[in-house]
Amino acid sequence: MEVNEMAAEECKALLERASLGRLGCSYENQPYAVPIHFAYDSGYLYVFSTLGQKVKWMRANPKVCVQIDEIQNQGEWTSVIVSGQYEELPEPQYSAERKHASSLLANHSHWWLNGLGERQMKVGDQLIDPLFFRIRIQSMSGLRATDEDEKERHE
Ligand SMILES: Cc1cc2nc3c(=O)[nH]c(=O)nc-3n(C[C@H](O)[C@H](O)[C@H](O)COP(=O)(O)OP(=O)(O)OC[C@H]3O[C@@H](n4cnc5c(N)ncnc54)[C@H](O)[C@@H]3O)c2cc1C
Repeated sequence: MEVNEMAAEECKALLERASLGRLGCSYENQPYAVPIHFAYDSGYLYVFSTLGQKVKWMRANPKVCVQIDEIQNQGEWTSVIVSGQYEELPEPQYSAERKHASSLLANHSHWWLNGLGERQMKVGDQLIDPLFFRIRIQSMSGLRATDEDEKERHE
């Protein structure tokens, strides 16, 4: 198996294809990671969310990271890690960005279900206040593993 660095364009192409990532944030020296759906556009990852621990922590400390991968098997995978800055998109000043985020996210079917479903489980029928945020990408790195033996076995 060989592991090589991915070029910036390859990392971007993975962000455009993928919709699921693991968001990492931290507060008072305690890391926290949760799965999220996102949509990538022009240097930002857009996310639909509800108010809970991750949003409270990112408001307090906007430095975050997201890990995204595509795994074919143990020897063939790609993985990208993005570091960036949390930016909440409240109404009314970010109306246009919220519209943009929901139209991007709408390309992924049922993108909103996980965020809402999890929250509904906790608050029952109470009103859920959905929010949008985005992560401004400041740096990213990517690794690709290739395995010639594995490829031959599948050909
Ligand atoms: C495939 C997938 C896609 C998802 N997509 C989104 C999305 O796009 N947007 C979104 O907002 N949410 C999404 N979720 C749900 C998300 O992972 C969180 O569960 C949810 O957002 C609540 O996070 P919170 O920090 O507000 O937790 P809170 O409700 O404040 O949770 C408090 C505590 O609950 C526990 N907890 C919370 N979430 C999880 C979890 N996922 N697994 C185990 N324990 C947990 C933790 O111990 C945490 O300390 C997705 C989940 C999955 C599995």
